[in-house]
Amino acid sequence: MNKKTIRDVDLSGKRVLVRVDFNVPIENGVITDETRITAALPTLQAILAQRPQALVLMSHLGRPKDGVPDPKYSLRPVAAALEAHLKQPIAFVENPLSDEAVAQVNSLPEGSIVLLENTRFYVGETQNSPELAAQLAKFGDIYVNDAFGSAHRAHSSTEAIARLMPAVAGLLMEKELQYLSAALEAPVRPLIAILGGAKVSDKIKVIESLLAKADKLLIGGGMANTFLRAQGRATGASLVEENALDVARDLLAKGGEKLVLPTDFVIADAFKDDANTQIVSADQDVPEGWQILDIGPLTVERYAALLDQARTVIWNGPMGVFEMPNFAKGTNAIAQTLAALTDKGVITIIGGGDSAAAVQQAGLAERMTHISTGGGASLELLEGRVLPGVAALNDK
Ligand code: AMP
Repeated sequence: MNKKTIRDVDLSGKRVLVRVDFNVPIENGVITDETRITAALPTLQAILAQRPQALVLMSHLGRPKDGVPDPKYSLRPVAAALEAHLKQPIAFVENPLSDEAVAQVNSLPEGSIVLLENTRFYVGETQNSPELAAQLAKFGDIYVNDAFGSAHRAHSSTEAIARLMPAVAGLLMEKELQYLSAALEAPVRPLIAILGGAKVSDKIKVIESLLAKADKLLIGGGMANTFLRAQGRATGASLVEENALDVARDLLAKGGEKLVLPTDFVIADAFKDDANTQIVSADQDVPEGWQILDIGPLTVERYAALLDQARTVIWNGPMGVFEMPNFAKGTNAIAQTLAALTDKGVITIIGGGDSAAAVQQAGLAERMTHISTGGGASLELLEGRVLPGVAALNDK
């Protein structure tokens, strides 16, 4: 990586301001998944080991109305969780936008850990306001960005601030970029990508980029329906993007043999878990009123056989409506296949978001080479884009 990291700088005696991604799911004040907190711990521990004056953390949480504090999205529960992990009290700053707050933090004993309240509670954060960035910058002598999951957004706490002070990457950021970029730029081949999810239109750029870089691209999920429709099949009541049919035809032509579509599907007579189901082959029409909700068993077998040739696999997006157990079978089977491949030494990389959730749900998270903590950010990397939160960091 050509960006400086916390290993390239001396943090002792400094106030280290770290943008983390503590955007965790919270229900009734209880954190239901701490993955993003635990993923940041190696960075925080490495910084603390360098004996800084203070470790000041900031993050967004959820989507409060721009600049409007909302107790539902307070980071307070995260402060409590962090105390348990780091075994040290965390000073919580409810309103960091005053010089008194800065003075208070400056007067804390050496080695203190501070968490600032949700960055989206302040006007300007999502507009990348330089004024807000300047106010936040007062809390640190050096800035560390470890929030890979937010690096695709140019916000005050991820982009503008990095232009105001020395700015380096944290260890999680470094690891995410290394895995995802290495897999795309210099993969151990054959590289096979698996792409699912709801829509072709959301992922046109990803498909184009993966067709250029991968040896094969296996398609599943709702987006397969649009390709099927583009080939002239009747798709019944399936989710299809009529206005993306031309794009789908174009991608099919460009993709040729590289672009692999399912050979069969699970169809249902309603969008619910206990609907009646049937298996149809991809060259059969889907009957009227029925809809495709998962890839079928032959597809699972064929994809497993193709994946057996891979030495690197990148997966983004579920193969079906995995939120319903009866239509999660295709997604779970792919997760099982990848777990077995990892055991054989294949590099398996899971983009964040739904595919990460599916792997976790299947209890296979520990058996993948890398699971990204950032859905949107990993998709943008797969598109071949430069993430603004990374671009703003200091070069080596
Ligand atoms: P995305 O956010 O684009 O990755 O899409 C993920 C969503 O696609 C999940 O909520 C799935 O339930 C949904 N999905 C996957 N396959 C299908 C399908 N065949 N029909 C409708 N929705 C689907």
